[in-house]
Amino acid sequence: MSKLKIAVQKSGRLFDDSIKLLKDCGISIDNGRDQLKAGARNFPIEVLYLRNSDIPQYVEDGVADIAIIGENLIIEKGTEVEIIEKLGFSKCKLSLAVPKEVEYTGLSWFNGKKIATSYPNTIQDFLQKNNIQADLHEISGSVEIAPNIGLADAVGDLVSSGSTLFKNGLVTVETLLKSEACLVKNKNLTVEKELILQKLLFRIQSVLRARKSKYILMNLPNEKIPEVSNILPVLKSPTILPLAQEGWSSLHSVIDEGKFWEVIDHLKEAGAEGILIVPIEKIVL
Ligand code: AMP
Repeated sequence: MSKLKIAVQKSGRLFDDSIKLLKDCGISIDNGRDQLKAGARNFPIEVLYLRNSDIPQYVEDGVADIAIIGENLIIEKGTEVEIIEKLGFSKCKLSLAVPKEVEYTGLSWFNGKKIATSYPNTIQDFLQKNNIQADLHEISGSVEIAPNIGLADAVGDLVSSGSTLFKNGLVTVETLLKSEACLVKNKNLTVEKELILQKLLFRIQSVLRARKSKYILMNLPNEKIPEVSNILPVLKSPTILPLAQEGWSSLHSVIDEGKFWEVIDHLKEAGAEGILIVPIEKIVL
């Protein structure tokens, strides 16, 4: 039986979350990343630990069937792979940033300026579309120090919290794209590998759904059930169980984590008590 080869970053920002996702999908990987590849005991998959920047090409060439990689890198490399699922981690933006003392007047400020970046293709594409002529200086890391050491006037860099830019006296003036880790696949998978991928994708989607949701339980007087049910955005309809205390029930439901803080006050006002919020491991629809 063939195995689906998945490429993950060998070391760096995406590594921990990529391995955690596979683990949360119930896949036990046999070896650590000191090996180039590792099998899994309980799923027809082989994990290839590769250099981040090499991964898109390996997937395009079919050396790996699928991969977990930042969207930004696929765009930069212009690789012919298919994005099948956005994974919700390693979120960042590709931005143009300038020293904070610069009086930024708009994109035309970049005309004739020197920009240091590790993403020359994406930046060049953006500048060209906006008719800006700038001089790009490609460097592979620590881009943010370039203006301070006189190497460039500005930087084109990935930003997540913004603290690296802040520490180096830079401010974002343009955002070119938003990125997050995603699952990509080679465009010509065999039918057999496509079937394995569908099984993996089903597990990944169940895990991602659960990560965004919480299980919520609360006690309330029976006459408040319709009012509280209306406040809760639920999967289908809430579960109602009678309490030992006459006239009271326990209401169970699933709620989007982001919505919880929005509705909590309304739930309390409507008479809910003893509200519990519990993490969910998987949601299978
Ligand atoms: P690394 O090889 O460890 O530098 O990881 C690079 C990848 O992590 C990038 O291609 C992005 O997809 C992702 N990433 C997320 N946030 C950031 C950030 N603030 N700076 C650099 N890379 C980031």
